[in-house]
Amino acid sequence: MTKLVRRECPNCKRDCPISLFKLRLNQFVPVNPTYNKNWVYSLGFPEETEFDFVKCSACDFVYSQSRLNDKLNYDLYHLGIDKDKSLAKTFSIQKRLKHLSLWRKLLSLSASFGYDLSQRELKVLDFGAGWGDFLSVAKSCGIKVFGLEFDERKIEFANFQGIPLGNFEFVEKHAPYDIFMCDQVLEHLDNPRDELKKLHSLLNHKAVGFIDVPNFETKNLNSLITKINEGEMPPKSINPWGHLNYFTPSSLRAMIFDAGFLEIEEQLHISNLKKEKPLLQMMRTGIKDYLQNIVQKPQANKVISYSALHSTSLYVETKS
Ligand SMILES: [Zn+2]
Repeated sequence: MTKLVRRECPNCKRDCPISLFKLRLNQFVPVNPTYNKNWVYSLGFPEETEFDFVKCSACDFVYSQSRLNDKLNYDLYHLGIDKDKSLAKTFSIQKRLKHLSLWRKLLSLSASFGYDLSQRELKVLDFGAGWGDFLSVAKSCGIKVFGLEFDERKIEFANFQGIPLGNFEFVEKHAPYDIFMCDQVLEHLDNPRDELKKLHSLLNHKAVGFIDVPNFETKNLNSLITKINEGEMPPKSINPWGHLNYFTPSSLRAMIFDAGFLEIEEQLHISNLKKEKPLLQMMRTGIKDYLQNIVQKPQANKVISYSALHSTSLYVETKS
């Protein structure tokens, strides 16, 4: 059985790729500290095997041309990634503070979008819940939490902590949800467009949530490609097995709008911006351009999104 499966464009489903650049195992494996190198090399890929990153000539979406077959993809997440190193990442103070701040933001958004938080129980869904670390922060009196996860080691760990995680049928059984999270998940999925639609099908029409993916804005990606072609090691975020999809802020927006989400707007206060990632963008583009960009977003209902150097994030609500 072939170890690799060729992919069509995950955005428009056509198959008309243009090659952008290629990586070999000895380029992307050493820069991933959580990889179990023995497992990777036991797969028997010849050293000269090249993994192709392509751009769809129909819609410009950038993606990894092939993925590991289903069996090897399962093994990658259960054997190829070191459990202890992966779990240790959730223990960092930065991660804990990020979860707290996101949870506070999502709670206040659900209050402003129509839920009387004093009157009803809320259900929270983490779509790609990992070790259950975000849901552990969200779980509290009157808040029920559920997570979608396919790594059995993570499900077992979270369940032991009292955080219920399971497969799609499991989270479907407890739907609909009022608040949701999809943090650093879509870039890993073979069919992110279909998965977003599945996520949408699980939500209340007033649900609010947070979607975040690594930002591969064309300018950033081109500069990375130049460096790689000059012999530099790639950043660990460029990985043909783990990261199958390379979103820009606009390709993420197009995909989430199509799946039935709206982007949320919030009054912009300069004092607030200083605390958040938009500052990075303002530093790069100037405050006038930044504010113009916010004002001119054509389909946006309300906007608190930001496109920073590291990732592109949207707070979204579901269309009624
Ligand atoms: Zn396409």
